[in-house]
Amino acid sequence: MSATHTPESHTPESLSAHLSHLLGAPVHLEVRRDRSVPVQARAMRFLPFARGGVELKVHELFLSAPPTVHQDMAAWLKVGKRAKASCQRLDHWIQGALQTLPPLQPRRLRLQHQGRVHDLQAIQLELLGSELAHAFEGFPQTSEPRHPIPHITWGRAGRGKKVRSIRLGSYNTENNLVRIHPRLDQPAVPERFVRYIVFHELLHAIYPSQKDRSGRWIHHTPKFKARERQFPDYAFALEWEKSTLFRVI
Ligand SMILES: [Zn+2]
Repeated sequence: MSATHTPESHTPESLSAHLSHLLGAPVHLEVRRDRSVPVQARAMRFLPFARGGVELKVHELFLSAPPTVHQDMAAWLKVGKRAKASCQRLDHWIQGALQTLPPLQPRRLRLQHQGRVHDLQAIQLELLGSELAHAFEGFPQTSEPRHPIPHITWGRAGRGKKVRSIRLGSYNTENNLVRIHPRLDQPAVPERFVRYIVFHELLHAIYPSQKDRSGRWIHHTPKFKARERQFPDYAFALEWEKSTLFRVI
């Protein structure tokens, strides 16, 4: 996010004052850039003069949020989840606003796509030109907006983990990163299987997780599953996972 704000946007001090006014109690505001916890509030009960006041940590996006967002925020601070409509609007605004931020560069991550046996980047590039064609930037070249190609890496070997509970792959939306479990990097694991795992994780980049009506996250949406079932090696991969995977790793 750039340092420039729209003329209507707040400074941390003015937002703090504004929210204090709306809440009718002191708000101690800290502005930060934590995308994973965009809002965090804690009652300031420990200060006798700050009755009803809160310590509030917010993402800097809130500085330039529309006034209604600040009103919803104050309603939430007052009565918590009982301000149902406000909470929903707030949630909705946060999700949208976070998406306007540029993707984080995984600068401090060491990416290692070339394993001892399998090269994840080669597998990914091949998928982008075949089963996943027309989903990501540059495959093929077009002016339509497309998903930026995820970074891909072998995860680091953890020690002492129970083999039965390992996660074969993961996709991290925040830094657009696919991680594949390093135990799949061995000759006994066919490339076809690794290819399926990479395909599955790339689908997460295309079909984001969604909340259902009760507010629970669905990571594999119906669209996701339908697309996954079309994968030519889907049946092979499920079968191999069931019959062989845990003997091999
Ligand atoms: Zn998944």
